[in-house]
Amino acid sequence: MELDQRIKHLLKHGNLRMTTVRKLVLKEFLEAGSIALSSYEIEKKFEDLDRITLYRTLKTFEECGIIHQAVDVSGRSKYAICSADCSNHNHEDHHAHFYCKKCERTVCLDDVKIPTLNLPTDFQLEDSQLVLSGVCGACQ
Ligand SMILES: [Zn+2]
Ligand SMILES: [Zn+2]
Ligand SMILES: [Zn+2]
Repeated sequence: MELDQRIKHLLKHGNLRMTTVRKLVLKEFLEAGSIALSSYEIEKKFEDLDRITLYRTLKTFEECGIIHQAVDVSGRSKYAICSADCSNHNHEDHHAHFYCKKCERTVCLDDVKIPTLNLPTDFQLEDSQLVLSGVCGACQ
């Protein structure tokens, strides 16, 4: 699918109106693929994009199941495009994220699933992150 088509499709999937900012930001995520981006990295690319608009856009995308959080080893939030199974307030990205010490990129490992853990019965799990680090394939 062409990039423009994918953007339209994703915004529709999230029930979101097309705006210039949404389009530009979404394009960055689609081009990054499985590589997670920080808001700072996106901000750097667009001179006139103010931080608050960007922050809101990321929040909206996250809520609508378009992007998900990928925390890196330092606990800094990054975001990456969601799997097709994600929807409004329901994320299905239960995979590990890999932080490369050389290129400092965080990558989604879609095929490495977070194992199910047996928590005490009175604990309710809401979110889990599995962060691995080392040297990625591109840096070997
Ligand atoms: Zn998701
Ligand atoms: Zn690397
Ligand atoms: Zn991911």
